[in-house]
Amino acid sequence: MDSCIFCKIAKGEIPADKVYEDDTVFAFLDIHPRAPGHTMVIPKTHAETFSDLPTGEVGPFFESTQKIVGMIKRALKPDAFTLGMNHGRVSGQEVDHMHFHIMPRWAGDGGHSVQSVVANTPTEDIKTIAEKIRSAA
Ligand code: 5GP
Ligand code: ZN
Repeated sequence: MDSCIFCKIAKGEIPADKVYEDDTVFAFLDIHPRAPGHTMVIPKTHAETFSDLPTGEVGPFFESTQKIVGMIKRALKPDAFTLGMNHGRVSGQEVDHMHFHIMPRWAGDGGHSVQSVVANTPTEDIKTIAEKIRSAA
């Protein structure tokens, strides 16, 4: 997509601190890192969110992402990782080209768990919610 900043980064039209590239993905350091080695992995195909990524590209995307996690692990030796995506504006997605955040974690780094990003405890019974989701398969 011509106006997409992350498409431009993947094509080398905008500079970025690349850490890895293959046929499927491009990975680069976040310009506002929340941790040393904070990396974003993007598919070379423009997909606004994970839901928009063609199904056939999902497997290769995650295989490459696992490889990059291994590279960061060997290079920076973090104690752990937080891995994830903001999917949609309300969740905090600012760039409309899907990107998977790899955030290396160290003991005492001041961070929290993934679950801490929301505090919207359901009022509906969880079995009812599970049934709603199953019936949408
Ligand atoms: P989001 O909130 O959409 O999940 O995250 C977007 C991320 O992209 C932010 O953490 C922001 O720092 C990063 N970012 C936005 N524009 C650029 C850019 O031009 N270059 C790089 N390297 N990172 C960017
Ligand atoms: Zn794009």
